[in-house]
Amino acid sequence: MNRNSLRARVTAFYVGMLALALLFFSVAVYAGARAYLTRSMERSLSNTARTVVADYLVPLDKQGQAWFLAEMSESYPPGIADPFVRVSQGGKVLYQSGDIRDPLLRVTTLPLPADPLNLSSFHRATDAAGQPMMMYTMGYRPPSGALILVETGASMEPLTHLLYSLLKILLIATPAILLISAVGGYLLMARPLRPVVELTEQAEHVGLTHMGKRLPIIPSGDELERLSLALNRMIERMEEALAHNQRFSADASHELRTPLTIIRGELEALLQIPDLTPPAMDGISSALEEGDRMSRIVNSLMTISRLDGGGERMEMLPIDLTNILQVTLEHMGLMAEEKEIALECQITAPVFVTGDAMRLKQVIVNLVDNAIKYTPNGGRITVRLLAENERAALTVADTGIGISPESLPHVFERFYRADRARTRESGGTGLGLAIVKAICGAHDGTLFIESEEGKSTTLRIELPLLNLSPRQVADLQHSAAQTVRVQPTPMASEDPAEEFSQTKM
Ligand code: ADP
Repeated sequence: MNRNSLRARVTAFYVGMLALALLFFSVAVYAGARAYLTRSMERSLSNTARTVVADYLVPLDKQGQAWFLAEMSESYPPGIADPFVRVSQGGKVLYQSGDIRDPLLRVTTLPLPADPLNLSSFHRATDAAGQPMMMYTMGYRPPSGALILVETGASMEPLTHLLYSLLKILLIATPAILLISAVGGYLLMARPLRPVVELTEQAEHVGLTHMGKRLPIIPSGDELERLSLALNRMIERMEEALAHNQRFSADASHELRTPLTIIRGELEALLQIPDLTPPAMDGISSALEEGDRMSRIVNSLMTISRLDGGGERMEMLPIDLTNILQVTLEHMGLMAEEKEIALECQITAPVFVTGDAMRLKQVIVNLVDNAIKYTPNGGRITVRLLAENERAALTVADTGIGISPESLPHVFERFYRADRARTRESGGTGLGLAIVKAICGAHDGTLFIESEEGKSTTLRIELPLLNLSPRQVADLQHSAAQTVRVQPTPMASEDPAEEFSQTKM
């Protein structure tokens, strides 16, 4: 359970509110019950005292002592339960009902009230054994004689016991109610939040490959529906901006191609003029070189824009990636040799994917070319291709200069170069990895990079694996062999180094 999730926070909030309400409720119930029981007890004691006065003390003078004692012992016999009644006059007990037996209270030994100010008031007392009691004392002055005191008393034990039981119930029930509400509330919250979770999951996928997707509309008629509609409108606006950007790059590079070709043609024609002075020759050659570089950039930009926008024509066919890899590395071996770099290829079995052979070749060229470019003389490059977990995984690892952690997140951006001075010298355009990323995206692939500055860089590409039957494999290998024999790869040239420095975009 994520403590910061909306579900957990809402549950915690309402359980907190419930806890507060239950606390108030429990305190109110306990205090109310305590006040009610105490008042009932007081009323019962005062009523008893008043009854004794009205029924037995007022007629005492007329009826006599014997009648009084008989009536009192009949009405208030030494009993098993409350109340205790004691009538005294001038420190002499006229009648007392005796000890209470259930629960046992030795009340007969209680001292007689000494303070006349205590009359008509309730007070707490304890019996000989320390048991708590509530006492009420009432005075009655007969027409002929001294003040008669009537004491009534009862044990506080039943009241204390009741309140203790109530407290126990509240202390057990409150946490139990809170626990049930917390678990129930947490589980119940899952339902209304499900659309939000779905919305989040879908939103995670928007823009991973292309924007095309829309979020599901939550038909709740509330803020959630408005949120899903607003997010979709936002995606639409982003899509438009992105499409505009891609169109602009594609159009600009397309428009630049023709004048660039003309400029290069004109420069080449100028070079043919006899008797050119050496400075003029140098100037024209340098302009031609820059023209070539510009053409490469423009072509790369156009490719990326088209691949990203889905406008690039691709021949998606089942192919054996190991073939492409072997042929490409064979051609690039010379470039590695020139820098005394060991170029090792690890392939165990054919790996089939659906893809455009030329584009995938371009990916390998770009990655290996970078590895050679950024690995000092005497280094090592290991290219590995294997099928694992339904994916074709191509890894190019080098022991080169590596990439700093600050640059690492940006190397797939267009025109980004980790170290401008160094890469300019090596002739890079900063578009090689952007093309790799675009081709990867067009093949539903994923791209990973790991690097340790000054030590190594590893690029890994994963493409969906194509599972073929042995017969399909044999057919494919046969047709591939034919293609290689009949139609040599369009990139083959006399000098592989030259070929690949031109191919890498
Ligand atoms: P460039 O044409 O400059 O090589 P890329 O897009 O191919 O452009 O690469 C972008 C940047 O990433 C490079 O400028 C370089 O700094 C860094 N980079 C790419 N591959 C490697 C590598 N194998 N080792 C070290 N740095 C690399």
